[in-house]
Amino acid sequence: MSSATAPGADDIPAQLAEFARDYYHCADCSYCVDATWAERGLDHVCPTIMHHRPVVSWSGRGYLLAARAWFEGAAIDEGALAERVFACTGCGHCEAVCPIGLRPAQIGASLRAVLVARGHAPEPVAALRAAMRTHGNPYALSAASRVDWAAALAFADDEATLLYAPGCAAAWRAPGEAVAQVRVMQAAGERVAWRGAADRCCGGPLREAGCNDDAAQAEAALVRGLTTTRVVVGGLECAPGWRRAATGRAGVHTFGEWLREILAAGRLRIDVTAGLRVHAFDGCAARRPDEARVDDPLREILARCGITPVNDAHGSAHAVCCGAAGTMSAVAGESALRMAAARLVAPAQADVIVVGDPRCRAHLEDAARSAPSAPVLGLAEFLTTHTRIGAPT
Ligand code: SF4
Ligand code: SF4
Repeated sequence: MSSATAPGADDIPAQLAEFARDYYHCADCSYCVDATWAERGLDHVCPTIMHHRPVVSWSGRGYLLAARAWFEGAAIDEGALAERVFACTGCGHCEAVCPIGLRPAQIGASLRAVLVARGHAPEPVAALRAAMRTHGNPYALSAASRVDWAAALAFADDEATLLYAPGCAAAWRAPGEAVAQVRVMQAAGERVAWRGAADRCCGGPLREAGCNDDAAQAEAALVRGLTTTRVVVGGLECAPGWRRAATGRAGVHTFGEWLREILAAGRLRIDVTAGLRVHAFDGCAARRPDEARVDDPLREILARCGITPVNDAHGSAHAVCCGAAGTMSAVAGESALRMAAARLVAPAQADVIVVGDPRCRAHLEDAARSAPSAPVLGLAEFLTTHTRIGAPT
């Protein structure tokens, strides 16, 4: 239920002061809301404005203005504010386009954390936290089913060269991609370990939802009993939590980062089917704000394989989020699917859409069930089905 909070010093969260510089430098230009700039490949910014609620208060600028008003002592309807800030995917595009370097996406993330701490998490976010506490995954699925994706694989018992942590999205929603990632790593000579039933969620979905205390507990559990000095994570959203947890203990790479290194070192040969029209899916991970940012080297890897995507790189930094990230799909699933549908491409334009992030891959496939689209594959699935992989000759 919504409730207006009477103004007063005790009602102004201390965290809001961190962004005072942003509040008073904002030029109200609205670039972060709906900028377009054809020569830069910029065609709108905020997926929430485009596909959920076309109102400024549901955008990065809206979050900044709300935080400023709260900081200055205005009465805030915290329930109504929560409805708005949890409909943000955290894609960071608003922040990436701000011409004076302000932080509307980080302000949104801070508001989510404040609202969770003050008991205003929307019901789907409360359900997410309960699912994590009860089942250890954001989907409220049986913890025992975490191992199902790997039934046909063999892992290294000893002398492992790396630990693979698929992440919840790959393990449950894109299991074919998790399997293919392991097969590609093994083809490169890696001895891949996996924790099986002891594998754990990294806490990434909790962090995105502002449940930072729960996320910190999940991260702390990751490195208990860790015996390898290299970890490869399947999900891009898993990397920040793993990196925080494993600092000083192990190097953490995403599958894409690992593959980029392996290809650069000449440890894997990939021969591509001639004439294949590949659409490279440009994700948001590399422009998310602050510690949430993760490299997505999909285009570099395709180039090393001799593939020129049919969609050129112009504007790749400005692709509007597909809605897979953050709490968007939990609080407004239909809107999140519209975001994904807007990113699909027709079969006449490409033979396959290749996606570097398993979470985006699963979400796009969901949207493709009701929209004509080229098939959607994760990067490793693509490599294992459309190329020949082997040791260099
Ligand atoms: S982070 Fe993305 S979804 Fe959230 S307000 Fe900014 S542009 Fe919109
Ligand atoms: S946050 Fe930046 S882009 Fe958004 S309105 Fe203010 S100055 Fe413009």
